[in-house]
Amino acid sequence: MKDISLLDKHFRVIISCAQIKTGIEHVADRINSDYRDREILFIAVLNGSFMFAAELVRRIKPLCRVSFVKVATYQGDVSGGVVKELIGLKEDLNGKHVILVEDIVDTGFTLDHVMAQIKSNYRPSSVAVATLLFKPQSYRKSIPVDYVGFEIPNDFVIGWGLDYNGYGRNLENIYSIAE
Ligand code: 5GP
Repeated sequence: MKDISLLDKHFRVIISCAQIKTGIEHVADRINSDYRDREILFIAVLNGSFMFAAELVRRIKPLCRVSFVKVATYQGDVSGGVVKELIGLKEDLNGKHVILVEDIVDTGFTLDHVMAQIKSNYRPSSVAVATLLFKPQSYRKSIPVDYVGFEIPNDFVIGWGLDYNGYGRNLENIYSIAE
């Protein structure tokens, strides 16, 4: 498959569109069997998760709803640390079976913040995590990443919702930076 150039970088395919769809089918099959008679509330973390979320939820059999949130990142004024705030969550999660949908889990800091905010503001019956891509060598947290489409090495990737400076989200394969 062809390498591509985007802005000032070259990228090569690491996962093809056909492989991605098969990976997502496996994730959906596992969710369908794990949740059989339980209603699911999917919460997809924008921007990157929109493609994975769309492809995943159309394969889900139990009753489900789908909602989208964003994580706003800004510099905290007291400690000087980075603060991540969850915005756009309108649903009442109390008593619900929630599945967080991520495009990629890298260090896990984003996931950790999202999970902490959900657990401090609501009492969901359960919260699981589904991600298209997971970088296990980079992961620094202990939250279980329940449903993983693909484990990948620690390289920067684009495509299928993932961007490079805002571009490349539309690409139908997943690409990694070429040396
Ligand atoms: P974490 O908080 O797990 O370190 O990183 C999560 C966020 O970093 C992702 O939601 C994504 O926006 C960004 N990210 C991490 N790795 C990559 C990558 O390889 N490519 C792109 N495009 N974004 C990444």
